[in-house]
Amino acid sequence: MRGVVMYAPGDVRVEDREDPTILEPTDAIVRVTATCICGSDLWPYRGIEPVDHTPMGHEYVGVVEEIGADVKTLEVGDFVVGSFVISDNTCEICRSGYQSQCVHRTFVSEIGTQAEKARIPYADGTLVATPGAPSAEQVPHLLAASDVLGTGWYAAVAAEAGLGKTVAVVGDGAVGLMAVLAAKQLGAERIIAMSRHPERQALARHYGATDIVEERGKEGVAKIKELTGGLGAHSVIEAVGTQESFMQAVGATRGGGHMGYVGVNYEVKIPGIQLFFAGIRAEGGPAPVRRFLPDLIQLIWDGAIDPGKVFDLTLPLEDAAEGYRAMDERRATKVLLTL
Ligand SMILES: [Zn+2]
Repeated sequence: MRGVVMYAPGDVRVEDREDPTILEPTDAIVRVTATCICGSDLWPYRGIEPVDHTPMGHEYVGVVEEIGADVKTLEVGDFVVGSFVISDNTCEICRSGYQSQCVHRTFVSEIGTQAEKARIPYADGTLVATPGAPSAEQVPHLLAASDVLGTGWYAAVAAEAGLGKTVAVVGDGAVGLMAVLAAKQLGAERIIAMSRHPERQALARHYGATDIVEERGKEGVAKIKELTGGLGAHSVIEAVGTQESFMQAVGATRGGGHMGYVGVNYEVKIPGIQLFFAGIRAEGGPAPVRRFLPDLIQLIWDGAIDPGKVFDLTLPLEDAAEGYRAMDERRATKVLLTL
């Protein structure tokens, strides 16, 4: 099969990889219909995360081609959406809703779903079948649920976005935009998107942002305070993962408010005393997308949400290298790869 392999930072190739086979009775082989490039794929691309001839990709939708003897909830031919984290969905941690911390957790990035096929372990606990075969138009929306929508949704839930709340979203990448969509769906009254890019501001407004703040850092915090009567937002979502964005999120959260942080924050150092005096509640980490998948699939199936608009460049898998370049140079927010 064909698949994306990153040889070294900045060196993305599409080449022949070995076809996956069933190794465990709980495995499924999925023929990938569509996959995409994630903001987090830029960490190795830019040399921040080690990379050496690594198969790439952790977002995927596709058709079940083969199942192991113990797979019970799926059949060959089912169209499935999968989380970017492998989970059994039966352990005590999974049953509490934190499938991304499953005792059997592995990351789909270790499999590499920017490829024609993928072996998904713990298929019952990781994959969710759609009600039927989706239309071509539905595929991008379902693909978004695999990571960015699920992650944005988790961030909004972790930040307790809900009825009557003012929600501020730090970050206008795909996850930040999905967090705006989620906050709107969860009933937030006011949604402040922090963004400097006109096209992303427009999409944020489409998804439900009521206010746009272009300032960053201390000025950004001051602006959020100004818009909230000096209090700060009830709910703040951190969807970037840099020092500035993280402390901007801490500063923008009101005392007793909630911060949901989902930006992968390799280099962030949190000054304890600043967190102490902020007096906020914080929850984050890799999103338990599996918790939300059944509901998100239904919302997409009903046409209630259109998360797939976040893909602003579609390329064939063979042109993945150009997709990485476009995202690295910020010419694209998120790239969908077709097969
Ligand atoms: Zn588990």
